Amino acid sequence: MRDAHLVLWRVSPADIPEIWRHCPGCSFDRPFVCSGKFRCNLQKKRLDVWLIYRCRDCGRRWNLPVLERRHVKSVDKALLEAFAADCPRQVQNYACDRELLRRHAKRLEVGREMRLEKIQLRADQSPRWTTVVTLSVPPTNAPRLDRLFARALCLSRKRLQFLIDAGILSLRPERPRSWRRPAGDGQRVALDLARLQNAPDLRDWLLQKLL
Ligand SMILES: [Zn+2]
Repeated sequence: MRDAHLVLWRVSPADIPEIWRHCPGCSFDRPFVCSGKFRCNLQKKRLDVWLIYRCRDCGRRWNLPVLERRHVKSVDKALLEAFAADCPRQVQNYACDRELLRRHAKRLEVGREMRLEKIQLRADQSPRWTTVVTLSVPPTNAPRLDRLFARALCLSRKRLQFLIDAGILSLRPERPRSWRRPAGDGQRVALDLARLQNAPDLRDWLLQKLL
């Protein structure tokens, strides 16, 4: 089998909650979504840090207090750099800190959206008969493998099952039952496009969605 194309799918955790608060722009309670950015203010060696949120409907900004009037020397230097760089790990840390969020939220709602980033590791245009997708998933709250693929490929699960049954999509190594389990970090899935020579529309669709 020729592995002409290698792709990495990086799934980001789906558990960053939205914060429900009164929105002065909308005049009623709306969900606020984490922007992924910090705002820092240093005055006379006292540091304030906020995580910026925006109303999902009108975009109005609201700042979640992360550090308040802290002496700058008492804050770890690596953490200061992380705030300045909007480090995604620290964003995740605070945006998922339920205790902190509950102090400022009327209620929390865990978003269902997962973020999926597709990175080409090796591209070989001629011909892309087999594409191997390697998964990078969070250790907790990983989506079910069949749901992840159905969603990423914009297929119904019935259609996805057809691809699995026909051997067009397969796990490496082969473990048929794993499709119904949470996706594993480093798990590999092969798409054998040679089997779709008689269905060029579906083949093109899959290629487009895979990459
Ligand atoms: Zn609003």
